[in-house]
Amino acid sequence: VYILGIESSCDDTSAAVFKDETILSNRVANQDVHKDFGGVVPELASRAHQQNIIPVVDKALKESGVKACDIAAVAFTRGPGLMGSLLVGTSFAKGFALAHDIPLVDVNHLHAHVLAHFIKEPDQDNKHPEFPFLCLLVSGGNSQIVLVKDYMNMEVIGQTIDDAAGEAFDKCAKVMGLPYPGGPWVDKLAKEGDPHAFQFAKPKIKNYDYSFSGLKTSFLYFLRDRIKEDPNFIEAHKKDLCASLQHTIVEILLNKLEKAADDLNISQVALAGGVSANSGLRIGLEKLAVRKNWITFIPKFAYTTDNAAMVAISGYYKYRAGDFVNHDAAPFSRVVF
Ligand code: ATP
Ligand code: FE
Repeated sequence: VYILGIESSCDDTSAAVFKDETILSNRVANQDVHKDFGGVVPELASRAHQQNIIPVVDKALKESGVKACDIAAVAFTRGPGLMGSLLVGTSFAKGFALAHDIPLVDVNHLHAHVLAHFIKEPDQDNKHPEFPFLCLLVSGGNSQIVLVKDYMNMEVIGQTIDDAAGEAFDKCAKVMGLPYPGGPWVDKLAKEGDPHAFQFAKPKIKNYDYSFSGLKTSFLYFLRDRIKEDPNFIEAHKKDLCASLQHTIVEILLNKLEKAADDLNISQVALAGGVSANSGLRIGLEKLAVRKNWITFIPKFAYTTDNAAMVAISGYYKYRAGDFVNHDAAPFSRVVF
């Protein structure tokens, strides 16, 4: 069957067409309008989605070679995300489903990030994790350790009690005067810096939970004190600051992941979400995997940040299970399903 996936939870408008588990097309329109604001402006995001959604869907359909009338179901991101953004994708999906008289499938954005691991590329050797596996989901809005028992059965066993890992990257990057989003910039500069140049406070927190707001504060105060002595401190030490910050975040993330894998006796470990693009995290995980004898899975870059391919594959599994929603389904800004 052909499935159309729609993603509009934050600032990327995306549409994808799948044939069962195989990707035929995945189009993403990014939004430049937020660049000058140092973060996503919700009102501007919804307006841009409204402009982008039709062209993006048209392009995805064209590229796939599938006619709109041959789509069997439309899957959309119902939440979590920005309400105004979610409404655009949700309304589009409802209109499309109504026009073509096909079922509507709602998708949890966080499940979708995890299920990105099952996207099949045509004519490729597609390896994917076996259930149960652990997935470290690290993005701009979330940091979670997810125990994945089945396509639709996931248990969040640990999560951040304040900021997400991506937020920690972005906020600290902002303090150093780097453009938004700062994560990729920190990654780039960290490659030439010394990860042990500076030490920042690591949180002491129970179970498999995370906390990143303390790190952000410790980073800020550290810089404030140093700048008093040397106004040029950030410029002079940017690479070392980035490397040390990244090293600290990666250590925090991997320590809890290791603890969870040990306790649950699980050796298949996956990364998901935008921060899984981070080279320090990827290298750190691979090193840990050798020591722990883990089999690891890291999605293709295009499937780590927000995209509709992960929504379409999630939609496919729900379609297969006959799990549809009515047209009165409203989006959720926070996780409630
Ligand atoms: P959520 O999925 O929780 O709603 P989101 O969809 O906004 O949040 P993603 O698009 O998955 O988040 O990820 C964006 C985040 O990933 C940003 O915080 C960005 O800085 C971070 N990021 C992207 N690339 C890198 C990198 N190479 N190193 C560190 N962080 C990165
Ligand atoms: Fe996301």
